[in-house]
Amino acid sequence: TLPLSEVDPEIAQALADELGRQRGTLEMIASENFVPRAILQTQGSVLTNKYAEGYPGRRYYGGCEFVDVAENLAIQRAKDLFGAEHANVQPHAGAQANVAVMTALMDHGDTMMGLSLAHGGHLTHGMKLNFSGKNYSIAAYEVEPDTYRIDMDRVREAAKAAQPKVIVAGWSAYPRQLDFAAFREIADEVGARLWVDMAHFAGLVAAGLHPNPVPHADVVTSTVHKTLAGPRSGFILAKEDLKKKIDSAVFPGQQGGPLMHAIAGKAVAFKIAGSADFKEKQERTLQGARILAERLTAPDMAELGISVLTGGTDVHLVLVDLRESQLDGKQGEDILHEVGITVNRNSVPWDPRPPMTTSGLRIGTPALASRGFGEAEFREVAEIIAAALKPSPDVEALRARVVKLTEDFPLYDGLEEW
Ligand code: PLP
Repeated sequence: TLPLSEVDPEIAQALADELGRQRGTLEMIASENFVPRAILQTQGSVLTNKYAEGYPGRRYYGGCEFVDVAENLAIQRAKDLFGAEHANVQPHAGAQANVAVMTALMDHGDTMMGLSLAHGGHLTHGMKLNFSGKNYSIAAYEVEPDTYRIDMDRVREAAKAAQPKVIVAGWSAYPRQLDFAAFREIADEVGARLWVDMAHFAGLVAAGLHPNPVPHADVVTSTVHKTLAGPRSGFILAKEDLKKKIDSAVFPGQQGGPLMHAIAGKAVAFKIAGSADFKEKQERTLQGARILAERLTAPDMAELGISVLTGGTDVHLVLVDLRESQLDGKQGEDILHEVGITVNRNSVPWDPRPPMTTSGLRIGTPALASRGFGEAEFREVAEIIAAALKPSPDVEALRARVVKLTEDFPLYDGLEEW
């Protein structure tokens, strides 16, 4: 019954400091968000105590009647939200969802084709040190050197040459929408399964502001904690014919007891994601990214060799291209950190600088949209970022403008006691 502050003051302090950091800075890491209070509650709930190996109604433990309610709600809501035939809500995280899909669809050594990591793909789509790259033969497709977009004719050529068993469409750093219908056609032409990893853009899909991959793909994976703004975790959507394979690949294939507190949080997140407020927030997310892209492609930035890849964005992030700039990705990340804006440096395709330095910044708007930012605030943020990336910025003045925004949009009000 003792509070955390008495049981473990050091951890309580770390939690309090992190709350202070989130409140006092502008979070613009494209893969992050702020979960609603209701989701913090599920995550800190007694459901963390429960073992529930198996699936609702078919558990290997007693006492699962209430966690079954939570998991059934999460499954039904995920299916309804995305129009899916089957949902598995047990993956602990996005990477686990992806491992389950790979093991369900492929045998060791089979060929998989995904967007190369250097061009915006994810580690789990074939990076050589990852489970994917170690266990499968990987053929990658890339963006085009002139447009920085994925050209579907080139994907078709690559697929015909590699004859993959699985094609994965999805990204961690790409500012445009994918053509799922074309991916489907190509998969059919070469006899591959189509897997879409919508981890980044699932919230946009849920809001109807991005094409839905579910009708086109055999299987769709996602995280819940990015644009979807739910608990840190993953889930899988599949066509009915893959239901058994997917479920057994998750459990007993690679996971033990599901995290029922996280699954309850997923149910809440899917419920919220079906609301009009959620859609309005996703509209602000997209608007913010567009404002940022416009500002960072203005002539004063071009003069400094700063631009954004593909010249704009259709999603919740922009990729700042610093290849022609004196400033590198590391310096850009550091200066923005000094003014109180958190982003991550990111390699751009054909990056001349090493991975620890990079020539890019990935900047996303989901967390600030959750915080309540609209057009006026995103314009101010864009001005602050543009000024920070110029030579000799007035860090103190910019930091003061950041503080003003954070004070105007308080975060987790009243959440102090642990
Ligand atoms: N898939 C994509 C496209 C991602 O961007 C990410 C996370 O960055 C993941 C999967 C993995 O998610 P997690 O970090 O929850 O394992």
